[in-house]
Amino acid sequence: MRDGLKIVEESLLESDVSYSVVKEFMTHVSEKALGKRVLLSLRPQEELVRIVHEELVETLGPVDSSLHLRADRPTILMLCGLQGSGKTTTCGKLTQMLREQQIEPLLVAADLQRPAAIEQLKVIGEQLGVPVHTETDHQDPVKVCQNGVARAQRDGNRVVILDTAGRLAIDEELMAQLKKIDRKVGPDQVYLVVDGMTGQDAVNSAGAFNDALELDGVIMTKLDGDARGGALLSVKQVTGVPVKFIGTGERFDALEPFRPEGMASRILQMGDIVAAAREAHRIVDESERETLEEKMATGQFSLDDFKNMMQKITQPGLMGRMMSLMPGMGQFKEAMESAEAGGQMKQIIGAINSMTPAERKNPKLIDASRRTRIAAGAGVQSSSITQLIKQFDTMKPMMQMMAGKGGGDRMAMLRQ
Ligand code: GDP
Ligand code: MG
Repeated sequence: MRDGLKIVEESLLESDVSYSVVKEFMTHVSEKALGKRVLLSLRPQEELVRIVHEELVETLGPVDSSLHLRADRPTILMLCGLQGSGKTTTCGKLTQMLREQQIEPLLVAADLQRPAAIEQLKVIGEQLGVPVHTETDHQDPVKVCQNGVARAQRDGNRVVILDTAGRLAIDEELMAQLKKIDRKVGPDQVYLVVDGMTGQDAVNSAGAFNDALELDGVIMTKLDGDARGGALLSVKQVTGVPVKFIGTGERFDALEPFRPEGMASRILQMGDIVAAAREAHRIVDESERETLEEKMATGQFSLDDFKNMMQKITQPGLMGRMMSLMPGMGQFKEAMESAEAGGQMKQIIGAINSMTPAERKNPKLIDASRRTRIAAGAGVQSSSITQLIKQFDTMKPMMQMMAGKGGGDRMAMLRQ
Protein backbone atom coordinates (compact mmCIF):
# COMPACT_ATOMS: atom_id res chain seq x y z
CA MET A 1 0.00 0.00 0.00
CA ARG A 2 2.88 2.32 0.65
CA ASP A 3 3.77 1.86 -2.99
CA GLY A 4 0.24 2.88 -3.86
CA LEU A 5 0.55 6.04 -1.80
CA LYS A 6 3.80 6.84 -3.56
CA ILE A 7 2.08 6.53 -6.91
CA VAL A 8 -0.71 8.84 -5.80
CA GLU A 9 1.81 11.35 -4.54
CA GLU A 10 3.71 11.34 -7.82
CA SER A 11 0.50 11.71 -9.75
CA LEU A 12 -0.49 14.78 -7.74
CA LEU A 13 2.90 16.39 -8.22
CA GLU A 14 2.64 15.67 -11.91
CA SER A 15 -0.68 17.46 -12.10
CA ASP A 16 0.83 20.65 -10.71
CA VAL A 17 -0.19 20.40 -7.10
CA SER A 18 2.54 22.13 -5.15
CA TYR A 19 4.87 20.10 -2.99
CA SER A 20 3.77 21.38 0.39
CA VAL A 21 0.13 20.84 -0.46
CA VAL A 22 0.83 17.31 -1.64
CA LYS A 23 2.70 16.57 1.55
CA GLU A 24 -0.11 17.73 3.78
CA PHE A 25 -2.69 16.01 1.65
CA MET A 26 -0.83 12.72 1.67
CA THR A 27 -0.57 12.78 5.44
CA HIS A 28 -4.37 12.83 5.64
CA VAL A 29 -4.72 10.12 3.08
CA SER A 30 -2.20 7.76 4.62
CA GLU A 31 -3.79 8.15 8.02
CA LYS A 32 -7.10 7.12 6.58
CA ALA A 33 -5.70 4.40 4.40
CA LEU A 34 -3.41 2.86 6.96
CA GLY A 35 -6.20 3.15 9.50
CA LYS A 36 -8.29 0.36 8.22
CA ARG A 37 -10.33 0.69 5.16
CA VAL A 38 -7.77 -0.21 2.57
CA LEU A 39 -6.76 -3.44 4.25
CA LEU A 40 -10.36 -4.48 4.54
CA SER A 41 -11.01 -4.22 0.91
CA LEU A 42 -10.87 -7.04 -1.53
CA ARG A 43 -9.52 -4.48 -3.92
CA PRO A 44 -7.13 -2.49 -1.76
CA GLN A 45 -5.79 -0.47 -4.64
CA GLU A 46 -9.20 0.73 -5.66
CA GLU A 47 -10.09 1.45 -2.08
CA LEU A 48 -6.98 3.58 -1.84
CA VAL A 49 -7.93 5.51 -4.94
CA ARG A 50 -11.40 5.98 -3.50
CA ILE A 51 -9.96 7.41 -0.31
CA VAL A 52 -7.74 9.76 -2.26
CA HIS A 53 -10.66 10.80 -4.41
CA GLU A 54 -12.84 11.45 -1.37
CA GLU A 55 -10.11 13.44 0.28
CA LEU A 56 -9.63 15.50 -2.88
CA VAL A 57 -13.33 16.21 -3.12
CA GLU A 58 -13.34 17.31 0.48
CA THR A 59 -10.34 19.57 0.01
CA LEU A 60 -11.67 21.08 -3.21
CA GLY A 61 -15.15 21.70 -1.83
CA PRO A 62 -17.52 23.05 -0.74
CA VAL A 63 -19.65 23.72 -3.79
CA ASP A 64 -20.86 27.31 -3.99
CA SER A 65 -21.52 28.68 -7.42
CA SER A 66 -24.05 31.23 -6.24
CA LEU A 67 -23.28 34.86 -7.01
CA HIS A 68 -25.11 35.84 -3.83
CA LEU A 69 -27.17 38.50 -5.54
CA ARG A 70 -28.66 41.18 -3.32
CA ALA A 71 -32.25 42.29 -3.40
CA ASP A 72 -31.81 45.84 -2.10
CA ARG A 73 -29.31 47.31 -4.54
CA PRO A 74 -27.04 46.26 -7.43
CA THR A 75 -24.69 43.44 -6.58
CA ILE A 76 -21.11 44.41 -7.34
CA LEU A 77 -18.86 41.64 -8.66
CA MET A 78 -15.18 42.41 -9.00
CA LEU A 79 -12.88 40.24 -11.09
CA CYS A 80 -9.15 40.41 -10.49
CA GLY A 81 -6.15 38.41 -11.58
CA LEU A 82 -3.01 38.54 -13.66
CA GLN A 83 -3.03 39.80 -17.22
CA GLY A 84 -4.24 37.15 -19.61
CA SER A 85 -5.81 35.02 -16.90
CA GLY A 86 -9.21 35.44 -18.52
CA LYS A 87 -10.93 38.22 -16.56
CA THR A 88 -12.48 40.03 -19.50
CA THR A 89 -13.60 36.80 -21.14
CA THR A 90 -15.10 35.70 -17.83
CA CYS A 91 -17.04 38.98 -17.65
CA GLY A 92 -18.69 37.89 -20.88
CA LYS A 93 -19.31 34.38 -19.59
CA LEU A 94 -20.89 35.63 -16.37
CA THR A 95 -22.99 38.04 -18.41
CA GLN A 96 -24.25 35.20 -20.57
CA MET A 97 -25.11 33.20 -17.46
CA LEU A 98 -26.99 36.13 -15.93
CA ARG A 99 -28.82 36.80 -19.19
CA GLU A 100 -30.14 33.27 -19.06
CA GLN A 101 -31.70 34.23 -15.72
CA GLN A 102 -33.20 37.36 -17.26
CA ILE A 103 -30.71 39.57 -15.43
CA GLU A 104 -28.98 42.33 -17.37
CA PRO A 105 -25.66 43.28 -15.82
CA LEU A 106 -23.71 46.47 -16.41
CA LEU A 107 -20.09 45.84 -17.33
CA VAL A 108 -17.50 48.34 -16.11
CA ALA A 109 -14.24 48.73 -18.02
CA ALA A 110 -11.87 49.44 -15.15
CA ASP A 111 -8.76 48.18 -16.89
CA LEU A 112 -7.18 51.44 -17.94
CA GLN A 113 -3.72 49.98 -18.45
CA ARG A 114 -4.29 48.99 -22.03
CA PRO A 115 -6.53 50.96 -24.39
CA ALA A 116 -7.44 47.71 -26.11
CA ALA A 117 -8.93 46.38 -22.88
CA ILE A 118 -11.79 48.89 -22.93
CA GLU A 119 -12.48 48.11 -26.56
CA GLN A 120 -12.49 44.37 -25.83
CA LEU A 121 -15.16 44.77 -23.14
CA LYS A 122 -17.23 47.04 -25.37
CA VAL A 123 -17.29 44.39 -28.07
CA ILE A 124 -18.38 41.78 -25.54
CA GLY A 125 -21.18 44.07 -24.35
CA GLU A 126 -22.37 44.52 -27.92
CA GLN A 127 -22.24 40.80 -28.63
CA LEU A 128 -24.30 40.00 -25.57
CA GLY A 129 -26.51 43.06 -25.68
CA VAL A 130 -25.63 44.55 -22.32
CA PRO A 131 -24.41 48.07 -21.46
CA VAL A 132 -20.73 48.75 -20.84
CA HIS A 133 -19.59 51.68 -18.73
CA THR A 134 -16.41 53.24 -20.08
CA GLU A 135 -14.49 56.45 -19.36
CA THR A 136 -11.50 57.37 -21.44
CA ASP A 137 -10.76 60.89 -20.30
CA HIS A 138 -8.83 60.09 -17.13
CA GLN A 139 -6.71 57.40 -15.47
CA ASP A 140 -8.58 56.68 -12.26
CA PRO A 141 -10.06 53.19 -12.15
CA VAL A 142 -11.62 53.87 -8.74
CA LYS A 143 -13.67 56.70 -10.19
CA VAL A 144 -14.70 54.59 -13.18
CA CYS A 145 -15.96 51.89 -10.84
CA GLN A 146 -17.80 54.35 -8.59
CA ASN A 147 -19.45 56.00 -11.57
CA GLY A 148 -20.33 52.61 -12.99
CA VAL A 149 -22.03 51.54 -9.78
CA ALA A 150 -23.97 54.84 -9.60
CA ARG A 151 -25.09 54.31 -13.19
CA ALA A 152 -26.28 50.77 -12.47
CA GLN A 153 -28.27 52.05 -9.52
CA ARG A 154 -29.85 54.70 -11.70
CA ASP A 155 -30.56 52.36 -14.60
CA GLY A 156 -31.77 49.51 -12.44
CA ASN A 157 -29.16 46.90 -13.35
CA ARG A 158 -29.20 44.20 -10.70
CA VAL A 159 -25.56 43.32 -11.22
CA VAL A 160 -22.39 45.31 -11.91
CA ILE A 161 -19.27 43.48 -13.06
CA LEU A 162 -15.96 45.28 -12.61
CA ASP A 163 -13.33 44.21 -15.13
CA THR A 164 -10.09 45.29 -13.50
CA ALA A 165 -6.56 45.56 -14.81
CA GLY A 166 -4.01 42.79 -14.52
CA ARG A 167 -0.27 42.83 -14.84
CA LEU A 168 2.02 40.20 -16.16
CA ALA A 169 3.28 39.51 -12.68
CA ILE A 170 2.31 40.67 -9.26
CA ASP A 171 3.38 44.21 -8.56
CA GLU A 172 2.77 46.63 -5.75
CA GLU A 173 1.08 49.25 -7.89
CA LEU A 174 -1.50 46.81 -9.18
CA MET A 175 -2.23 45.57 -5.69
CA ALA A 176 -2.53 49.08 -4.31
CA GLN A 177 -4.97 49.97 -7.07
CA LEU A 178 -7.13 46.91 -6.44
CA LYS A 179 -7.13 47.53 -2.71
CA LYS A 180 -8.31 51.05 -3.34
CA ILE A 181 -11.17 49.88 -5.53
CA ASP A 182 -12.05 47.30 -2.91
CA ARG A 183 -12.09 49.94 -0.15
CA LYS A 184 -13.84 52.73 -1.99
CA VAL A 185 -16.32 50.81 -4.12
CA GLY A 186 -17.04 47.96 -1.71
CA PRO A 187 -17.69 45.06 -4.07
CA ASP A 188 -20.02 42.34 -2.73
CA GLN A 189 -18.04 39.54 -4.26
CA VAL A 190 -14.38 39.60 -5.23
CA TYR A 191 -13.35 36.76 -7.52
CA LEU A 192 -9.83 35.81 -8.37
CA VAL A 193 -9.47 34.61 -11.95
CA VAL A 194 -6.56 32.22 -12.41
CA ASP A 195 -5.21 30.59 -15.51
CA GLY A 196 -5.35 26.81 -15.08
CA MET A 197 -2.50 26.31 -17.53
CA THR A 198 0.07 28.22 -15.56
CA GLY A 199 0.50 25.73 -12.74
CA GLN A 200 2.70 26.98 -9.97
CA ASP A 201 2.46 30.62 -11.16
CA ALA A 202 -1.25 30.49 -10.52
CA VAL A 203 -0.55 29.43 -6.97
CA ASN A 204 1.95 32.21 -6.33
CA SER A 205 -0.33 34.89 -7.71
CA ALA A 206 -3.25 33.51 -5.72
CA GLY A 207 -1.23 33.95 -2.56
CA ALA A 208 -0.44 37.57 -3.38
CA PHE A 209 -4.02 38.47 -4.31
CA ASN A 210 -5.32 36.73 -1.24
CA ASP A 211 -3.00 38.76 0.98
CA ALA A 212 -4.09 42.02 -0.59
CA LEU A 213 -7.83 41.45 -0.94
CA GLU A 214 -10.56 39.66 0.84
CA LEU A 215 -11.45 37.13 -1.83
CA ASP A 216 -14.86 35.49 -2.03
CA GLY A 217 -14.17 32.96 -4.69
CA VAL A 218 -11.88 31.63 -7.38
CA ILE A 219 -12.58 31.08 -11.06
CA MET A 220 -10.08 28.89 -12.86
CA THR A 221 -9.95 29.29 -16.62
CA LYS A 222 -8.48 27.36 -19.53
CA LEU A 223 -9.30 23.97 -18.17
CA ASP A 224 -10.35 22.91 -21.65
CA GLY A 225 -6.75 22.09 -22.54
CA ASP A 226 -4.42 19.45 -21.20
CA ALA A 227 -4.03 21.03 -17.82
CA ARG A 228 -4.96 18.53 -15.16
CA GLY A 229 -5.95 21.31 -12.83
CA GLY A 230 -3.82 20.27 -9.90
CA ALA A 231 -3.01 23.93 -9.32
CA LEU A 232 -6.60 24.38 -8.28
CA LEU A 233 -5.98 22.28 -5.21
CA SER A 234 -3.08 24.51 -4.23
CA VAL A 235 -5.00 27.68 -5.02
CA LYS A 236 -7.87 26.42 -2.90
CA GLN A 237 -5.49 25.63 -0.08
CA VAL A 238 -3.79 29.03 -0.30
CA THR A 239 -6.96 31.14 -0.49
CA GLY A 240 -9.41 29.00 1.45
CA VAL A 241 -12.32 30.39 -0.56
CA PRO A 242 -14.73 28.36 -2.70
CA VAL A 243 -13.97 27.64 -6.31
CA LYS A 244 -17.00 29.10 -8.06
CA PHE A 245 -16.62 28.28 -11.72
CA ILE A 246 -14.24 26.81 -14.20
CA GLY A 247 -13.66 28.12 -17.69
CA THR A 248 -13.53 25.49 -20.38
CA GLY A 249 -13.20 27.44 -23.59
CA GLU A 250 -13.12 30.86 -25.20
CA ARG A 251 -16.82 31.03 -25.93
CA PHE A 252 -19.24 32.72 -23.56
CA ASP A 253 -21.03 29.50 -22.81
CA ALA A 254 -17.83 27.84 -21.64
CA LEU A 255 -18.25 28.50 -17.94
CA GLU A 256 -19.27 25.68 -15.64
CA PRO A 257 -20.21 25.67 -12.00
CA PHE A 258 -17.37 24.00 -10.17
CA ARG A 259 -17.86 20.31 -9.35
CA PRO A 260 -15.27 18.87 -6.97
CA GLU A 261 -15.94 15.26 -8.06
CA GLY A 262 -15.12 15.88 -11.68
CA MET A 263 -12.07 17.87 -10.74
CA ALA A 264 -10.80 15.23 -8.34
CA SER A 265 -11.03 12.61 -11.07
CA ARG A 266 -9.26 14.89 -13.45
CA ILE A 267 -6.45 15.59 -11.02
CA LEU A 268 -6.07 11.93 -10.27
CA GLN A 269 -6.68 10.69 -13.77
CA MET A 270 -8.38 7.81 -12.09
CA GLY A 271 -7.81 5.27 -14.80
CA ASP A 272 -4.05 5.59 -14.72
CA ILE A 273 -3.86 5.42 -11.00
CA VAL A 274 -6.08 2.42 -10.71
CA ALA A 275 -3.94 0.65 -13.26
CA ALA A 276 -0.69 1.62 -11.60
CA ALA A 277 -1.88 0.92 -8.12
CA ARG A 278 -3.26 -2.40 -9.23
CA GLU A 279 0.19 -3.35 -10.34
CA ALA A 280 1.56 -2.38 -6.96
CA HIS A 281 -0.98 -4.37 -5.03
CA ARG A 282 -1.36 -7.49 -7.04
CA ILE A 283 -2.69 -10.11 -4.69
CA VAL A 284 -5.28 -11.89 -6.71
CA ASP A 285 -5.35 -11.50 -10.44
CA GLU A 286 -8.08 -9.50 -12.01
CA SER A 287 -10.16 -12.17 -13.73
CA GLU A 288 -10.12 -14.32 -10.63
CA ARG A 289 -11.06 -11.42 -8.46
CA GLU A 290 -14.03 -10.64 -10.61
CA THR A 291 -15.21 -14.21 -10.57
CA LEU A 292 -14.81 -14.31 -6.80
CA GLU A 293 -16.74 -11.14 -6.29
CA GLU A 294 -19.49 -12.30 -8.55
CA LYS A 295 -19.73 -15.57 -6.67
CA MET A 296 -19.84 -13.82 -3.34
CA ALA A 297 -22.46 -11.42 -4.55
CA THR A 298 -24.66 -14.24 -5.74
CA GLY A 299 -24.04 -16.46 -2.73
CA GLN A 300 -22.14 -19.09 -4.68
CA PHE A 301 -18.89 -18.70 -2.81
CA SER A 302 -17.68 -22.24 -2.10
CA LEU A 303 -14.93 -23.95 -0.18
CA ASP A 304 -13.05 -24.18 -3.46
CA ASP A 305 -13.07 -20.42 -3.69
CA PHE A 306 -12.13 -20.19 -0.05
CA LYS A 307 -9.16 -22.41 -0.74
CA ASN A 308 -8.21 -20.35 -3.74
CA MET A 309 -8.21 -17.20 -1.69
CA MET A 310 -6.14 -18.84 1.01
CA GLN A 311 -3.58 -19.80 -1.57
CA LYS A 312 -3.52 -16.41 -3.17
CA ILE A 313 -3.29 -14.37 -0.07
CA THR A 314 0.16 -15.51 0.82
CA GLN A 315 1.49 -12.35 2.39
CA PRO A 316 2.39 -13.24 5.97
CA GLY A 317 -0.06 -11.74 8.40
CA LEU A 318 -2.31 -10.23 5.80
CA MET A 319 -5.33 -12.39 6.53
CA GLY A 320 -4.88 -11.91 10.25
CA ARG A 321 -4.74 -8.16 9.83
CA MET A 322 -7.82 -8.18 7.68
CA MET A 323 -9.68 -10.22 10.24
CA SER A 324 -8.67 -8.07 13.18
CA LEU A 325 -10.14 -5.07 11.43
CA MET A 326 -13.49 -6.66 10.78
CA PRO A 327 -16.09 -5.87 13.36
CA GLY A 328 -16.57 -9.01 15.46
CA MET A 329 -13.82 -10.87 13.70
CA GLY A 330 -11.17 -10.53 16.38
CA GLN A 331 -11.28 -14.17 17.37
CA PHE A 332 -10.72 -15.19 13.81
CA LYS A 333 -7.51 -13.23 13.69
CA GLU A 334 -5.76 -15.57 16.09
CA ALA A 335 -7.03 -18.59 14.29
CA MET A 336 -5.71 -17.27 11.05
CA GLU A 337 -2.39 -16.24 12.45
CA SER A 338 -1.77 -19.51 14.20
CA ALA A 339 -2.90 -21.29 11.07
CA GLU A 340 -0.34 -19.39 9.07
CA ALA A 341 2.38 -19.83 11.64
CA GLY A 342 1.83 -23.53 12.14
CA GLY A 343 1.66 -24.36 8.49
CA GLN A 344 -2.02 -25.09 8.97
CA MET A 345 -2.84 -23.23 5.85
CA LYS A 346 -1.53 -26.25 4.00
CA GLN A 347 -3.75 -28.47 6.12
CA ILE A 348 -6.79 -26.40 5.35
CA ILE A 349 -6.01 -26.63 1.70
CA GLY A 350 -5.33 -30.36 2.02
CA ALA A 351 -8.64 -30.85 3.79
CA ILE A 352 -10.56 -29.04 1.13
CA ASN A 353 -8.78 -31.10 -1.50
CA SER A 354 -10.06 -34.25 0.20
CA MET A 355 -13.66 -33.20 -0.19
CA THR A 356 -15.87 -34.10 -3.10
CA PRO A 357 -16.95 -31.29 -5.42
CA ALA A 358 -20.45 -31.49 -3.96
CA GLU A 359 -19.10 -31.07 -0.44
CA ARG A 360 -16.99 -28.10 -1.42
CA LYS A 361 -19.98 -26.46 -2.97
CA ASN A 362 -22.26 -27.18 -0.07
CA PRO A 363 -20.39 -27.86 3.20
CA LYS A 364 -23.70 -28.58 4.95
CA LEU A 365 -23.52 -32.05 3.40
CA ILE A 366 -20.56 -32.86 5.61
CA ASP A 367 -21.88 -35.08 8.39
CA ALA A 368 -19.88 -37.08 10.96
CA SER A 369 -19.01 -39.93 8.61
CA ARG A 370 -17.96 -37.64 5.79
CA ARG A 371 -15.91 -35.65 8.27
CA THR A 372 -14.02 -38.78 9.32
CA ARG A 373 -13.34 -39.67 5.69
CA ILE A 374 -12.08 -36.18 4.83
CA ALA A 375 -9.90 -35.99 7.97
CA ALA A 376 -8.32 -39.33 7.15
CA GLY A 377 -7.68 -38.26 3.56
CA ALA A 378 -6.00 -35.04 4.64
CA GLY A 379 -4.17 -36.55 7.60
CA VAL A 380 -5.73 -34.24 10.19
CA GLN A 381 -8.00 -34.58 13.21
CA SER A 382 -11.67 -34.65 12.42
CA SER A 383 -12.13 -31.67 14.76
CA SER A 384 -10.00 -29.60 12.34
CA ILE A 385 -12.58 -30.21 9.68
CA THR A 386 -15.34 -29.00 12.00
CA GLN A 387 -13.34 -25.88 12.70
CA LEU A 388 -12.60 -25.27 9.06
CA ILE A 389 -16.28 -25.37 8.18
CA LYS A 390 -17.05 -23.05 11.04
CA GLN A 391 -14.47 -20.59 9.79
CA PHE A 392 -15.88 -20.80 6.33
CA ASP A 393 -19.39 -20.14 7.60
CA THR A 394 -18.25 -17.12 9.58
CA MET A 395 -16.37 -15.73 6.68
CA LYS A 396 -18.97 -16.22 4.00
CA PRO A 397 -21.58 -13.63 4.96
CA MET A 398 -18.84 -11.15 5.66
CA MET A 399 -17.30 -11.67 2.26
CA GLN A 400 -20.67 -11.45 0.63
CA MET A 401 -21.26 -8.17 2.34
CA MET A 402 -17.93 -6.88 1.14
CA ALA A 403 -18.48 -7.93 -2.42
CA GLY A 404 -22.18 -7.23 -2.56
CA LYS A 405 -23.48 -5.03 -5.32
CA GLY A 406 -25.11 -2.83 -2.72
CA GLY A 407 -21.89 -0.89 -2.47
CA GLY A 408 -23.40 1.40 0.14
CA ASP A 409 -23.68 -1.36 2.70
CA ARG A 410 -20.23 -2.41 1.98
CA MET A 411 -18.83 1.04 2.36
CA ALA A 412 -20.76 1.63 5.54
CA MET A 413 -19.18 -1.45 6.95
CA LEU A 414 -15.73 -0.39 5.85
CA ARG A 415 -16.15 2.92 7.59
CA GLN A 416 -16.97 1.47 10.96
P1 GDP B 1 -7.58 39.12 -19.05
O1 GDP B 1 -6.31 39.79 -19.41
O2 GDP B 1 -7.48 38.51 -17.69
O3 GDP B 1 -8.76 39.99 -19.18
O4 GDP B 1 -7.75 37.89 -20.04
P2 GDP B 1 -8.71 37.73 -21.29
O5 GDP B 1 -10.11 37.56 -20.86
O6 GDP B 1 -8.43 38.82 -22.26
O7 GDP B 1 -8.23 36.32 -21.84
C1 GDP B 1 -6.92 36.06 -22.31
C2 GDP B 1 -6.97 34.96 -23.34
O8 GDP B 1 -7.39 33.76 -22.73
C3 GDP B 1 -7.96 35.24 -24.44
O9 GDP B 1 -7.38 34.82 -25.67
C4 GDP B 1 -9.14 34.35 -24.11
O10 GDP B 1 -9.85 33.95 -25.24
C5 GDP B 1 -8.47 33.21 -23.45
N1 GDP B 1 -9.34 32.51 -22.49
C6 GDP B 1 -9.99 32.99 -21.41
N2 GDP B 1 -10.67 32.03 -20.75
C7 GDP B 1 -10.44 30.88 -21.43
C8 GDP B 1 -10.82 29.51 -21.25
O11 GDP B 1 -11.54 29.12 -20.30
N3 GDP B 1 -10.35 28.62 -22.16
C9 GDP B 1 -9.55 28.99 -23.20
N4 GDP B 1 -9.14 28.05 -24.04
N5 GDP B 1 -9.16 30.26 -23.39
C10 GDP B 1 -9.59 31.19 -22.53
MG1 MG C 1 -8.89 42.01 -19.54
